[in-house]
Amino acid sequence: METSRIPGFYNMTVEERRQLLTSMDLFTEDDTAYLFSKQPLAIDTADNMIENVIGTFPLPLGLGLNFLINGKDYVIPMAIEEPSVVASASHIAKIVRDAGGFTTEATGRVMTGQIQVVGCPDFHAAKEAVLRKKDRLLEAADNAYPSLLNRGGGAEDLDVRILNEEADSKYGQMLIVHLYVDTRDAMGANMINTMAESLAPVIEDLTDGKVYLRILSNYPERCLARARCVIPPNRLQTGEFSGEYVRDGVIHAYEFAASDPYRAVTHNKGIMNGIDPIVIATGNDWRAVEAGAHAHAARDGMYTSMTAWSRDEHGNLVGELELPMSIGTVGGSIRVHPIAKLAHKLLNVDSAEELAQVIVAVGLAQNLGALKALATDGIQKGHMALHSRSVAIAAGATGEMIDMISQRLIDENEIRVGKAKELVEEYKK
Ligand code: NDP
Repeated sequence: METSRIPGFYNMTVEERRQLLTSMDLFTEDDTAYLFSKQPLAIDTADNMIENVIGTFPLPLGLGLNFLINGKDYVIPMAIEEPSVVASASHIAKIVRDAGGFTTEATGRVMTGQIQVVGCPDFHAAKEAVLRKKDRLLEAADNAYPSLLNRGGGAEDLDVRILNEEADSKYGQMLIVHLYVDTRDAMGANMINTMAESLAPVIEDLTDGKVYLRILSNYPERCLARARCVIPPNRLQTGEFSGEYVRDGVIHAYEFAASDPYRAVTHNKGIMNGIDPIVIATGNDWRAVEAGAHAHAARDGMYTSMTAWSRDEHGNLVGELELPMSIGTVGGSIRVHPIAKLAHKLLNVDSAEELAQVIVAVGLAQNLGALKALATDGIQKGHMALHSRSVAIAAGATGEMIDMISQRLIDENEIRVGKAKELVEEYKK
């Protein structure tokens, strides 16, 4: 879409939002038929995706607005069940947009495969033997997946580690071969697994050991994406809280997460609140992204904050997020799930590298949304107001009752299912 600024989108009805999307000429009639249909994922398609299928499990799909990243506008498809996430991301994206937008970069698309070798008579000699044949092994890996070379990717590098060398190690000694592969626009799990499996017999020959595991690592440390934003304090002013107060509160909140795993885990969950919905909506493997993100947050030996917040010499708030991003724009279920295909169309990204950068920018926005709320009014004020609708529905409210009961819960400051049930009974009398 040309712009991600759609003023008033929040206050439209679902029907009005759908009409607006239809009028934008972004989707074909077939696209919107899928997007707006009662069962967008056909049961036959679902049955081909996983085993033992009995149905599908829909989630709300909302649009994160206002995102300006490296000067380009992005509308973010977000599939999530938790209220306030989409609103918070869009709110922060507007603040960052007014401050010039996010800047992002990526290190490339190099994923990691691991081959485990045990029982080598001499582990150091085995390591040297593998490294001496590095070029031959890379060529063999490429031969196992030749189409990747044609796409400009392929096996790039190889490394060997020896684990558990210490005499008192409680685990057995092993040699681990790391295979680094540029998987282009694919996440690359199947590609890497195919390559790793193909190398196993050669590696056994070279090491005189026995190969067991041959599998992708979900911590692709050579496939990082980074996002940054710089916000003048006056743009952070909230109610009676000055911009400087909010900026300092965000930095204090970051320092708490940076120094305490008990806080970091919740801080990082808030970041994944932004990341998972776009990863899911784009048909990507969110467990892989989650696992990689948390491993990166613990890379120095202690689990810590994924983001960093600081103050620059002009007094601006500076936010940074770096994460491994094993996602794709092709492969897996991306071109199978009809809504995932439309999510890619909406995002209008040209490559997995670009998508990875958009995802970390959304994660950074989500983190600031949570920290800004926590450092000022507290998270419950906004969250519970939005949550009140779910509480009303859980208590049995339907139709016009939902708004009415949700408003009463907010007015009476009692956003509980028990209270909502009382109100539903009262309404029905
Ligand atoms: P695929 O096996 O689907 O491979 C990618 C496909 O995309 C290839 O067939 C390739 O075609 C095609 N393709 C088209 N255009 C491009 C392009 N520009 N760049 C790269 N490939 C292109 O998917 P992945 O290897 O990405 O594996 C992802 C799946 O694996 C996910 O579903 C994931 O859940 C799952 N998985 C995850 C694991 C983990 O996380 N540990 C383990 C095992 C599986 P061509 O063949 O012609 O090159």
